[in-house]
Amino acid sequence: MSIRDVASFAAGHWIAPDKTAREIASAITGEVIARAGTARLDTQAMLDHARTVGGPALRAMTFHDRARMLKGVAQHLEANKHLLYDLSFDTGATQGDHLFDVDGGIGTTFVFASKGRREMPDSHVYCDGPVEHLSRHGSFLGQHICVPLQGVAVHINAFNFPVWGMLEKLAPTLLAGVPAIVKPATSTCYVTEAAVRLMLDSGLLPAGAVQLVSGGLGDMLDRLTCQDVVSFTGSSTTAHKLRQTPALVANSVRFVAEQDSLNASILGPDVLPDTEEFDLFLKEVQREMTTKAGQKCTAIRRILVPQAQVDAVIDGLRAALQGVTIGDPRAPETRMGALVSAAQKRDVLQRAAQIGTEATRVFGDPDAFAVVGADKDRGAFVPPMLFHCPDPDQAIHVHETEVFGPVSTVMGYRDLDHAVALANRGQGSLVASLITADPAVARDVTLNIAAYHGRVYINNATSMKEATGHGAPLPHMVHGGPGRAGGGEELGGLRAVKHYMQRTAVQGSPEILSAITGTWIPEGPEYTTPDHPFTRRFGQLRIGETLHTKPRQVTSADITQFAQFTGDTFYAHMDDDAAARNPFFPGRVAHGYLLLSFAAGLFVQPDEGPVLANTGLDSLRFMKPVQPGDSIKVRLTVKAKTPRNADYGEVRWHVSLRNQNDALVAEYELLTMVAR
Ligand code: NDP
Repeated sequence: MSIRDVASFAAGHWIAPDKTAREIASAITGEVIARAGTARLDTQAMLDHARTVGGPALRAMTFHDRARMLKGVAQHLEANKHLLYDLSFDTGATQGDHLFDVDGGIGTTFVFASKGRREMPDSHVYCDGPVEHLSRHGSFLGQHICVPLQGVAVHINAFNFPVWGMLEKLAPTLLAGVPAIVKPATSTCYVTEAAVRLMLDSGLLPAGAVQLVSGGLGDMLDRLTCQDVVSFTGSSTTAHKLRQTPALVANSVRFVAEQDSLNASILGPDVLPDTEEFDLFLKEVQREMTTKAGQKCTAIRRILVPQAQVDAVIDGLRAALQGVTIGDPRAPETRMGALVSAAQKRDVLQRAAQIGTEATRVFGDPDAFAVVGADKDRGAFVPPMLFHCPDPDQAIHVHETEVFGPVSTVMGYRDLDHAVALANRGQGSLVASLITADPAVARDVTLNIAAYHGRVYINNATSMKEATGHGAPLPHMVHGGPGRAGGGEELGGLRAVKHYMQRTAVQGSPEILSAITGTWIPEGPEYTTPDHPFTRRFGQLRIGETLHTKPRQVTSADITQFAQFTGDTFYAHMDDDAAARNPFFPGRVAHGYLLLSFAAGLFVQPDEGPVLANTGLDSLRFMKPVQPGDSIKVRLTVKAKTPRNADYGEVRWHVSLRNQNDALVAEYELLTMVAR
């Protein structure tokens, strides 16, 4: 079998491994299948290429341009994912595992592509939070904005997810507008290299946006500056070492880390054997122990169950684990493949032995287990191993030693406080799960463990059919955790994107802030045109373009008619005396919805034209009641514009209603689709 040369992609060129390369063995056969690493990498040239070619090209694109690019890249990967499946078997992963790694990575990229279009503007500036009013008369305001860092993101990834591990960092980085240098773990870098080749083949990434280091990173970290970010996944030992790189410390380089985690799963005190929830608990634990042969940062390492259920849980898990066929991941009957390497197998066995000093192994013998379709002694196979720790209060290893394989420990708890204390003994983890049908238990546990966990996953019979699983990090939700887990948030919707952006407080007049953010601010300048704004197409409308309507009086007959027509005869609109007894109203008042309807009647231009639809209304506030005899007038202003497709875009209008004394009566944002 030929040995695959895994290249690096540096400053636009593929660089083959040299004689310093490391050999990579198949997890199944132990044979050398690839080699990676070169001493010829010019790390400064790679950084320069990212900073001077990739960064400017990405920053010239808007958030939406980059979101569309991500979508295209994900589509290209999706169309070619079988190539990644084929390669991944040699990492020890089964077809089921590929769904997490390959499909999970592509899915994550799609989610960021979609979030970029929905939650970010089609521009170069992201407004973080509302305008802050810093002055009495509104001539001086503040707005937090986020802009892409002008450096490079260095991604150092763990071996266990060669595709997802890359894409979960790359998607938010590229969406932010920052180029990346990806350094996968050497033992599985041949899969990452293939994925990078596919992404480049898509032709969608600008030059310099993505580079790849297969093998050692050399002195790259010594060359980072304040505009760069290191995003690391791997062991706490490596994280600890890399965090202290003098250049990173001296230049305050951001370091996002996701490292060891001793995740717990708690069986609620309300869940008894032979119930749906009890079976659900066993299923979640079994799945987390055996997916990726337990080499998952979110896997369940600690199984916390009421004392009375310890035996039933161990019996149930024994039966479930007995049914897991171990073997060549390509064999259809295989449910659990191999660890990634012989070295990882040694590490797992050594750490499992440490657990064994505090706990009894109740399932799985590494010296006696069956493997189908492969040579047990050549591949990095181990069986799932279940331990029982009788005294979890005194034990240390079960809470602190992460065995990165199919190994987990059952511990009994006395009461919920005890369960909480044990869960928190992990000193910070990525996820804790709880199986309970009792909302009071869920609240008690969540409030007491949330500070120690990045994610709390609660499941029961109501949610189990659709729940995504204890171990599945979702791009929308925080993935990361405090303390031992590294303190980072690799994922979490736009939170992940902000790691690669600078948040800056900008202060100035409304006009200046409007110009910077591309969004109209109520105190900002207004523009009028001879034509009604509803007759103007998306591209013609200008931020700040405003229509002032004539006033309309609201009579008591209007209010009565509206009440009878709609059926809303609430006393405040119908009964003067009753309304006056209400502390909010001086007497009978107009319905808020009547005011909105009159406002539309005042600002709408009725002819067929470019306004296609009214799609919603945000931030509605009624500030002052309107009584019979009062009049209202409307100001309608283009606040923001977002192209949606070739045919139309969304226009966000700021609408304010004032009375005859110029007092603000109501305010809202109206969303319309306008033809381009
Ligand atoms: P490592 O910490 O050994 O390696 C992680 C990454 O860091 C790899 O890409 C590795 O590259 C790189 N690296 C190591 N040393 C340096 C260095 N001096 N400079 C730059 N980069 C470096 O973790 P592994 O991936 O090997 O996994 C080992 C352990 O990490 C597991 O047993 C588990 O305990 C933990 N782990 C935890 C995860 C989590 O999210 N909780 C996920 C994965 C692993 P190279 O491969 O070339 O050495």
